[in-house]
Amino acid sequence: MSKSHLFYQSDTSRPVLAEARGIYMWDVDGRRYIDGSSGAMVSNIGHSNPNVLEAMRRQMEKSTFGYRLHFETEPGEHLAAKVASLTPEGMEKVFFVSGGSEAVESAIKLARQYAVTVGQRSRWKVISRAPSYHGSTLGALALTGYDPLTRPFEPMMQAMPKVPAPRAYLDGLDIDDPATGAHYAAMLEAKILEEGPESVLAFIHEPVGGASTGALVPPAGYMQAVREICDRHGVLLIHDEVMSGGGRTGLFLGADHWGVAPDIIAISKGFGAGYAPLGAMIAHDRLVDPVLKGGGFMHGHTYAGNPLACAAGLAVLEEIEAGAMMDNAARVGQRLKSRLGDLMQRYSFIGDVRGKGLLLAFEFVSDRRTMAPLPKALNAYHHFVEMAYAEGLIVYSRRTRNGLEGDHILVCPPMITTDEQVEEILEMLTRALDRFEAKVSPALPR
Ligand code: PMP
Repeated sequence: MSKSHLFYQSDTSRPVLAEARGIYMWDVDGRRYIDGSSGAMVSNIGHSNPNVLEAMRRQMEKSTFGYRLHFETEPGEHLAAKVASLTPEGMEKVFFVSGGSEAVESAIKLARQYAVTVGQRSRWKVISRAPSYHGSTLGALALTGYDPLTRPFEPMMQAMPKVPAPRAYLDGLDIDDPATGAHYAAMLEAKILEEGPESVLAFIHEPVGGASTGALVPPAGYMQAVREICDRHGVLLIHDEVMSGGGRTGLFLGADHWGVAPDIIAISKGFGAGYAPLGAMIAHDRLVDPVLKGGGFMHGHTYAGNPLACAAGLAVLEEIEAGAMMDNAARVGQRLKSRLGDLMQRYSFIGDVRGKGLLLAFEFVSDRRTMAPLPKALNAYHHFVEMAYAEGLIVYSRRTRNGLEGDHILVCPPMITTDEQVEEILEMLTRALDRFEAKVSPALPR
């Protein structure tokens, strides 16, 4: 290939993708990879699903675009109805977008417009957690709790108040003890009081953490306590289900594991499952109705709700149902998680394994007793991904801690992964971990 004119985050070049089917991908040189992270936790139903491709082809023959202010579209109507049937009672209104940042922006703008409409203009702050990731556009970035990403853009955007993410495993607390959930939720209440409840519009968090915290599962009681605190102070609760929504955790929404309903939900990623850029913001009628009656929602994106993306999204949901893929994600995810847990016996530098369904991660530490991270200079997250890549396994990694240290690896293959494929993934992962061990062991305490 001649020199590339593309640029993304860095100038590291990547193999050129030739084709992808199921959980496998091939580059133009014929090398095969397992998509062990579904891209960025996107390709939930695997690649090249023939029924989705056929639904898209049929839609393309009818129309590929109809501007949402000129036409309703059948795929849009059907998909919205389907989504409303999968979300909590009273959340009947769906607003389509083309990605996760747009879904989060839409959520905070709807929250704000609702507050203004009902005479609560003083409410504008959106509290979020650190670490967290809510998107890269300036509004969503203001909620993102990760300094290296946000700092260059201040004061263009104003970072919003943060509370600690409930990382019980790092703080030495018992995740199954309701006192742990209460402990972290109390920090939210303290922050609301510190900021002044009349100024706080909403709290946003990821029910099951994504890239920033590495599949963080909240401690017992946390989800319910957060809901109660928000209600007590008139603060709206927004669930960022961009990554945890869509079925990957074994249920359609991450928060369904705790039966907690928010006021607004943002979804994307697995919702379009890589077939089309698609996302949605779903809100409770008690927010949407006053905003619509008050003159309409002052927000929207040109490509939103286009019939091709909606037809793809609808076909994805139908495939998930027809293939009982959420059940498979729960069952296979349990198996993969327990096998990852076994790896802790073999590799002392794996400090934690966590997640739900097929939203799973493990975290590197230099010392399990203190949970101290690997030395920053090792650049472990980067090296491990390269080593797995060399084995033909794609995994996703990020820095967990809010500085520049602490590394976790997300293992999130598509929801169609079979038991045999779990074994295949583990063999590749083990080979990569052996290579990684040779690199890190001189840096570990004896
Ligand atoms: N929220 C969460 C929880 C995410 O994981 C992401 C993407 N990593 C986003 C928002 C932003 O989505 P997008 O990259 O599609 O804008």
